[in-house]
Amino acid sequence: MPRFILMFLLFTVITFFLGRFMGRFWYRRPAARSEQTHSADELVQDPNCLTYLSRKTALTVRSGGATHYFCGSECAAAFEKEQAKKESSG
Ligand SMILES: [Zn+2]
Repeated sequence: MPRFILMFLLFTVITFFLGRFMGRFWYRRPAARSEQTHSADELVQDPNCLTYLSRKTALTVRSGGATHYFCGSECAAAFEKEQAKKESSG
């Protein structure tokens, strides 16, 4: 068998495997989309314990036109007590 054919075959095989190998890196799956709206998952801060929590799970308390979010009823009660104290002393 002529040498150049052998060389050609070898070259073809190497190129083929190299191409497949490199293809693994070149072909990337599209990253997980993070463009979904997070309006319901928006983080809100509990003004009492300063914990950040999802608005979806937060306890919503409206007082004086402002909306406050709490991690639980205990924090809401504590905050309201604090507000009442400020108003009475203030
Ligand atoms: Zn809290």
